[in-house]
Parts: sequence; C-alpha cells; structure tokens
Amino acid sequence: GGADIECDMLVLGAGPGGYSAAFRAADLGLKTVIVERYASLGGVCLNVGCIPSKALLHVAAVMDETTHFAELGIEFAPPKIDIDKLRAHKEKVIGKLTGGLAGMAKGRKVEVVRGYGAFLDPHHVEVELTTGDAQDKTGDKKVVKFKHCIIAAGSQAVRLPFMPEDPRVIDSTGALELKAVPKRMLVIGGGIIGLEMATVYSSLGARIDVVEMLDGLMQGADRDLVKVWEKKNAHRFDNIMLKTKTVAAEAKDDGIWVKFEGDKAPADAQCYDLVLVAVGRSPNGRKIAADKAGVAVTERGFIEVDNQMRTNVPHIFAIGDIVGQPMLAHKAVHEAHVAAEVAAGQKSSFDALQIPSVAYTDPEVAWAGLTEDQAKAKGIKYDKAVFPWAASGRAIANGRDEGFTKLLFDSETHRIIGGAIVGTHAGDLIGEVCLAVEMGADAVDIGKTIHPHPTLGESVGMAAEVAHGSCTDLP
Ligand code: FAD
Repeated sequence: GGADIECDMLVLGAGPGGYSAAFRAADLGLKTVIVERYASLGGVCLNVGCIPSKALLHVAAVMDETTHFAELGIEFAPPKIDIDKLRAHKEKVIGKLTGGLAGMAKGRKVEVVRGYGAFLDPHHVEVELTTGDAQDKTGDKKVVKFKHCIIAAGSQAVRLPFMPEDPRVIDSTGALELKAVPKRMLVIGGGIIGLEMATVYSSLGARIDVVEMLDGLMQGADRDLVKVWEKKNAHRFDNIMLKTKTVAAEAKDDGIWVKFEGDKAPADAQCYDLVLVAVGRSPNGRKIAADKAGVAVTERGFIEVDNQMRTNVPHIFAIGDIVGQPMLAHKAVHEAHVAAEVAAGQKSSFDALQIPSVAYTDPEVAWAGLTEDQAKAKGIKYDKAVFPWAASGRAIANGRDEGFTKLLFDSETHRIIGGAIVGTHAGDLIGEVCLAVEMGADAVDIGKTIHPHPTLGESVGMAAEVAHGSCTDLP
C-alpha cells in the first residue's frame, strides 16, 4: 500500500540520540519525522534517567552538606521531607526540558508521530499510534516512507527472572518515581545507576545494602578513586556484599525476603521494604522488526555500525544505547550528529578519542580517556601525576578536601592519555581533561595554562605541574 507520510529522514526514538539526530538532519535541510511511543520527547535520559536522577541527587547533596554545618558554627533543624513536593520539583525539571524539546522540534518543522514504530521493509516503518501519558494504543496505524532512517530506540533495564512481580521490587524508573522512602533497601548491582539511587534514598533516610557480583563497586573506575568515595559513603550502608549473587526472592507481607550466595552472603534470607534491581540495561534492537528492513541485530539486541554509524543497510543508521557501550547520553548525541551529517552527504565520522564517565555520587567520580587499569591492560607505558585536594585552597575552604585529580601521560610522547577526578563537582571538572585528550595536550600545555585561583578546576593545572616537575605549591 501507499504511505501516509513521506520524508527524507525518519528517526526511530526520541531520546538524546534521536532528538539530536532529528534536529541536525532538519538543520541540514532534510524533511524529518520522529517516531516516539511516549508523549514527551527526551527518551530515558530526560524522562527517567540523567535528568530526574540529578534533580534528586542535588537535593540529597544539599541535605548531606548541612549535616556538617554544626562544626562551622551554623546549625540547621533536622530536615522535614515532603516527598510529594520533592517529586513535583523533579517533574517540573523534566517538564521544562521536554517542553523545550517539543518547541525545538516545532521550530525546525520536525514532525513527531506518536506510537510504536516497526519496519515493514527497507523504506517503510509502520507506526501503531499511541495516546495519553501511558503507551495506550489507539488502534490506528500510520505508514511512514523514508529515504534515510536513524534507529535510536535505546535500551531498557534488565530484569532478574526470579524477582517477584511486586510494587516493592523496582528498576531505576520505579526508583525515580520516589513513591516512598523505605526503612531497609536493597540495591542489586553496584554500578553507577545503583549507587546514585542508593545516595538519594539514603540521604532521604533509608538504610542501604548493596549486592554486587564482581569484586568491587563502580566498575570501570580506577580503584584509587573508588576508595575515596567508599570512605566518605561508608555511613550509608549496613552491608556491602561483593562477589555475591542474588539467587532468590519472595514477596511476603512484611517485605521482600532475598537470598544470597557468595563471599559475603548472609546465611539467612534478608528482609527489605524496597529492592532496586540495577544490573544493567539491554538494547531494544529485537523489538522493531529490524529483519524486515534487512538490518542485522545481534542476539543480545545490539545493532552493529561502522564509524559513520551505518548499519549493514547503507541508508539505515543506528546510534545511542542500541549500538553498544558505553550507554551514555553524550555518546548518543555525538553519534547522532555523525549519522545525520553523513545522511545529509557530509564527510563526518565517529573518531572521538575519549568518552567520559561520571558517577554523580557524593563525592562525584569522573574519568576520561584511558584509566590506569586500561593503560596497564594495553601495555601502554605511562607517567602519572596526582594532585591531592588536601593541598587545594578551595577544597579546604569548602570543607571537602577528600578528593584528588589524576592525569596520565604517555611516557614516550608525553601526551595526556587520560585523567580522573574524585571530589565534589568532579563531573564538571573532567571537561578540561576531555579537551586535553582530544587535542593531544602534554603536561606543559596544561601546566602553563593559567587557571583561576582558588578553584577546584585549578587542580587539573596543578596535577600537570606535578607531571613536569615544577609544582609551584600555590595553596
Ligand atoms: P533512549 O534515551 O533510551 O531513547 C529511546 C527512545 O526510543 C525512547 O523514548 C523510547 O520510548 C523510544 N522507542 C523505543 N522503541 C520504540 C519504538 N519501537 N517505537 C517508538 N519509539 C520507540 N547517561 C548519561 O550520559 N549521564 C547520566 O547521568 C545518566 N544517568 C542515567 C540515569 C539512569 C537512571 C538511567 C536509566 C540512565 C542514565 N543515563 C545517563 C543513560 C542515558 O539515559 C542513555 O544513555 C540515553 O538515554 C540513551 O539515549 P538513546 O537516544 O540511545 O535512547
């Protein structure tokens, strides 16, 4: 049959990958359509990921900060938590951003078709239209014919098959709904998402247990950084169970009873008021009938792409969580721009030297380029420079001098190959390291750059000074 809509570019999914791709494609003159099942644009990141988690983490950090103020001569009354107001604040933050995106789509004449998209063939997608806040199907369908397509259908939380269907067993989306603050909470999975949510719930008053199969929390970061976070956060946790598996769970009136196996497993089942499953995310590649378009999807649901973000079908691209790790919004956005530019005939390609990672815990942990673990695994000879924040005037003035800034340089070329920061605002500070890695800066370039004093950002310059052996010891 015919098509209801024809376009140059169809973007499937409106997360950070999808909306960025659509806006760039439209800016480059392509008639662009976005297909998205949810009412608002923004995908996981804006609706149930990056943004709501940071709105809550900000509140948690402010609450935690005030608990130290008695030492400084300022006393606050213990906080009274109005969880409905807090939830409303988070919703308002989301609304501002998703509303902004809707305006930007309109301004660019990007048409949004609301519904589930699935391929019919290499040039058509059928959309089962949806309505309302949920994903209620209206029963109507629309067929969109496209010249180019960018698949940006993202990922969803992995479920553990043995966990009972129960409102007290939640994933990150459920955690961000913030229905109530439990007394005892179990976080299954000690990665960034699990630890960010543990931070929020513990600041609001929950006691937390964490269970992690591997031998350390926050995998991916060098252990020296994680140690600083652990020391500062020990008070939040009753039990951190490493090298331990969750093997069974039962929903009873008094709570969710969970059984563990492994190094740190308690002998008996433990009872929790709330269990957060944060064991990773799986790509949505197997849900869009990609085979009908001839697009290859791996068993796990990933779509493989080349450095121009093309799938095995040259006019169909894929970006974001669905193409692989790291599943991060800034990676999706960068890939989105490449895909849209290539589709519009530009010579663009994905050649980023680094993709930064940040745990927005308190303190934050951020790393970019190679970690020490990665450099060692690759057999790269490197020099390391560390600037402890105990020597930073600003960190001391802030009462938060537990952090440090670390830079890694190639021993032969002296170029920076990576860096990491643990401390307050580490995520904001790592941007300079990202730029230095991309530009191939050496220690002199960074150390001789005048940084403002007294700032936390100065610690990047100080670390570089350490590296070329002329630390000026400015307090
Ligand atoms: P998504 O954001 O997953 O968007 C995909 C969109 O496609 C969705 O809106 C979905 O509804 C739609 N869709 C899927 N299939 C169909 C279909 N068949 N038809 C129509 N529509 C469809 N990343 C960071 O960089 N920083 C952070 O601080 C951060 N915090 C996070 C916190 C949490 C709790 C979570 C869960 C994730 C976080 N992430 C963070 C990861 C980040 O959210 C993702 O990497 C990012 O959203 C991926 O973007 P995407 O465009 O690939 O897909």
